[in-house]
Amino acid sequence: MSEDLRHECGIAALYWLNKPAGSQGPASRLVQNGDVVPLLPGVLLDLQNRGQLAGGVSSYNPNRASLIQTFKDIGTVSEAFRMSHPSKHAAILQRLSGPAAIGHTRYATCGVDLVSHAQPFERHHGRRWKWFAFAFNGQLANYAALRQALLARQHYHCTQNTDTEIIMHQLSYRLRGDKRPDLPAVMKSLARQFDGAYNLAFIDAMGDMFIARDALGFRPLCWGVQGRLFAAASESVALANLGFSDIRHLEPGMMAVVRKGRLSFVRFAPCRREAHCFFEWVYFANVASVIDGTSVYVSRSRAGQRLAELEDQPIGDDCIVVPVPDTAKAAADAFAFRLGVPSVEGLIRNRYVGRTFILGSDTRQVSARRKYTPLPAVLAGKRVFLVEDSIVRSTTLAALADQIRRRGGAREVHVRVACPPIVSPCFYGIDMSTLGELFAPRFVGRRYRGPLDDRTATRMAKALGVHSLRYLTVPDMEQCIRIGSERLCLGCVMGQYPTPWGDIHLRRAKRKFRDGAETARTYES
Ligand code: SF4
Repeated sequence: MSEDLRHECGIAALYWLNKPAGSQGPASRLVQNGDVVPLLPGVLLDLQNRGQLAGGVSSYNPNRASLIQTFKDIGTVSEAFRMSHPSKHAAILQRLSGPAAIGHTRYATCGVDLVSHAQPFERHHGRRWKWFAFAFNGQLANYAALRQALLARQHYHCTQNTDTEIIMHQLSYRLRGDKRPDLPAVMKSLARQFDGAYNLAFIDAMGDMFIARDALGFRPLCWGVQGRLFAAASESVALANLGFSDIRHLEPGMMAVVRKGRLSFVRFAPCRREAHCFFEWVYFANVASVIDGTSVYVSRSRAGQRLAELEDQPIGDDCIVVPVPDTAKAAADAFAFRLGVPSVEGLIRNRYVGRTFILGSDTRQVSARRKYTPLPAVLAGKRVFLVEDSIVRSTTLAALADQIRRRGGAREVHVRVACPPIVSPCFYGIDMSTLGELFAPRFVGRRYRGPLDDRTATRMAKALGVHSLRYLTVPDMEQCIRIGSERLCLGCVMGQYPTPWGDIHLRRAKRKFRDGAETARTYES
């Protein structure tokens, strides 16, 4: 995705259990003296694709005055944890050492006061079960309503405009009183309140921990056990690189709970339907991950093959396939292989133009010029099939196509998109929550449910300044992911959302778009 869409975070958790819950393996052998913390920065590095603006860890150690210790900072994981300064890094790990820890990588759209927004959030309390830290991946679609309800209560105040703070207050409220509540009961109660995507990693000063995946399973969350080591992470690649081979996915509505050092699994909410975000396979997840049983790489590769089956342009020696780096590479390679056309790097990505805030469409075009260099030696005189994983706003793609032609000297540019048109916003944690920022809604009618007709595709191609444009359809996508639409969230490609607040936000987004009043993320109002 050339527009650098952002995700709302990755989470991880590690626990050194009282007794082995599985056989020893390479991951559990890495743990020295029951201290799991040295493993956590590496796990977070593998989740870096889910957020690069801040990283943090909260750990529990019963032999420390500060039973829960939190460290977080802005920057990539290696910046936050000073990984290029061995003595500073070692000092951070030493301070955090303990048998249980949770971690977080964060992305945010605003740059205000970043350290206070970084996670985990810690809530200190003198009573140990009320002292906790948690990390969150997702987006509560009913965040604004929850916030309003909270502020309507006597003497409540919020310092931030984030759903993470609301979750913290909701957790604190459920942990009130003189009797310690059961953690599954707490999650059960939260699930009745929350609408949207919410994966949580939680630890308290009693030394208990849980990870929980929302009842629709929007975002991935997986776990594994080796010897006494329990590990969980947003993506399987993080556990695989740690040394786990038997990696399971937490079912929607389930939580893994460690109480008194013992691991158990509890259902906290019924899963009436699943709604996995298809975008995880298309763009967000690490290509080496497996989500809910489907390899991200294989699904992207199938998307490329399907695009090749649909290809109707004449194919000759003057054709080349160029992936938009990096997430479209698997699809582009499969597309090229199927058509017998070389897949070449006609666009070189400058990997060091990275974590800069992108503020508007003009800036995006400038950013595209800085980020990608077209190679005339590869592109000149060629008919280029530019394979992209998705088109959200189109400004970067249009700028790229323009450069491929003007600077690269390509004769024709044909854009092939390995997903359906994005026609509606996302209210569940992907940073595209207004209609006005999207490319496709300008061309499709209000009743559009797909597939795109040829005339509309031609108009869109013209607007992008390319010779032709083809998308996959929703049924194509289902085939690629091998998960039926009844188990996927397809809100942004169908305009039909799996939760009530999705539909409410869409109505609001349409009204605001019509009135020219889209100023903030839709779910913030
Ligand atoms: S609306 Fe789209 S991006 Fe958002 S969760 Fe659903 S499928 Fe994913």
